[in-house]
Amino acid sequence: MHRFGDRRPKAFVKTYGCQQNVSDGEKLKGLFVQMGFELCDQKQDADVILFNTCAVRENAEVRVFGNIGQLKALKEKKPALLIVLCGCMTQQEHIVDKVYKSYPYVGLVFGTSRMKQFPELLYRALSGRKRLIDTDKPGDDVQEDIPIQRDGEIKAWLPIMYGCDNFCSYCVVPYVRGRERSRAFDDVMKEASEIVRAGYQEMMLLGQNVNSYGKTLPGGSTFAQLLRSINDLEGDFRIRFMTSHPKDATKELIDAIAACEKVCNHIHLPVQSGSNRILKQMNRGYTREDYLELVAYAKQTIPNLSLTSDIIVGFPGETETDFLDTLDLIKQIEYTSLYTFLYSPRKGTPAEKMDDPVPAEEKSRRFQQMLKVQEEIAAKRTAQMVGQTYRVLVEEEQNGVLSGRTEGNVIITFKGSTELIGTFTQIEAVSATNWMLKGKIINGTH
Ligand code: SAH
Ligand code: SF4
Repeated sequence: MHRFGDRRPKAFVKTYGCQQNVSDGEKLKGLFVQMGFELCDQKQDADVILFNTCAVRENAEVRVFGNIGQLKALKEKKPALLIVLCGCMTQQEHIVDKVYKSYPYVGLVFGTSRMKQFPELLYRALSGRKRLIDTDKPGDDVQEDIPIQRDGEIKAWLPIMYGCDNFCSYCVVPYVRGRERSRAFDDVMKEASEIVRAGYQEMMLLGQNVNSYGKTLPGGSTFAQLLRSINDLEGDFRIRFMTSHPKDATKELIDAIAACEKVCNHIHLPVQSGSNRILKQMNRGYTREDYLELVAYAKQTIPNLSLTSDIIVGFPGETETDFLDTLDLIKQIEYTSLYTFLYSPRKGTPAEKMDDPVPAEEKSRRFQQMLKVQEEIAAKRTAQMVGQTYRVLVEEEQNGVLSGRTEGNVIITFKGSTELIGTFTQIEAVSATNWMLKGKIINGTH
């Protein structure tokens, strides 16, 4: 680009939020590289700074605004710097208004379905003088053939669908990501084969509701079929997936997980609440009983099943009884780990308009109580794992200690050579600390 003379321009990309966004971030980096940019990890060095934003809770938005605010001084020092915003926040009108009015030094804003147009938008923003805002409603198409600059060398993200049709009453995702649409079966299989060929040891299939994969496809493929086909690819690798919505998890799917040796014995199955009254208000589409029945079937079908979940505490009008129902469910199921969130009102969602008489202090008391309960469950679980040997995917080294994950997604640390990174190694668990394990290598076995 003439603006940079002969020099290779530099781009800094920061992604917030969920794995879907991280995966989009890898594509944005791929596009930057394709356009001749070099990626850098210091904002001060960059010619273009891009924030790939998240809107799922208020604190994610606050962080993004804080980070944009900090760029003001840099932009004053370096007027040629282009600041770009994309991702879920940019699909909300009130946010775009705020950026327009209060952050005049942001030069380009584009929406979640404009990925393919990004090179053109960037070119226009860099060559014109005006600020560019392109945030039409999210489209219904699936954009293929975008280059990817993957962040890791061991685990790869593989999006299998985009958008969401579930409209849980608290959630902004369907508004900012558009309607649910699945990638064509062959396109997913092609990328899965590329991931295996590139030598990755693990792939994570991504979607807001992977269980409804295929519903929008003409051939009517199912997620279970997709799992079986990826499992049939040759090679030593693991398959994980998220998120699995309980209302669409079928016995056929559980059977497929049990039958596919490469699919991990771990399901992330967000329950959100253990109270039927709250589940109904959340528009989740299942009851506590449905969920427990599904879990019972999964536990009996998949040996050593590890379950994790998302929980929202303090949904509008949540009573102490509702909360205790959630605690009770957590204790019954004994999750390996929980992702816990305090309810955050999102503009334009039905829950935002619901009465919410519960004081913030009460919500945070419940939140703390839940963390304590889960801590005890996790400690009990990890203690039970001591003395057993696990096949661990070794992922990294920190301060001379290696760490990796069991198939059930429990982290285990141990001493060993960094050459083991990226391999499957047999590790015996020797002690447990709350939610993690310490272990030792079992020599001679892989
Ligand atoms: N599609 C996934 C979740 C995507 S959002 C699913 O249905 O499970 C990830 C998690 O963020 C949700 O599971 C929920 O627990 C949490 N979340 C979403 N909106 C929220 C809100 N308004 N306040 C608090 N937590 C929220
Ligand atoms: Fe949000 Fe519900 Fe869709 Fe998950 S399933 S993304 S929580 S609307």
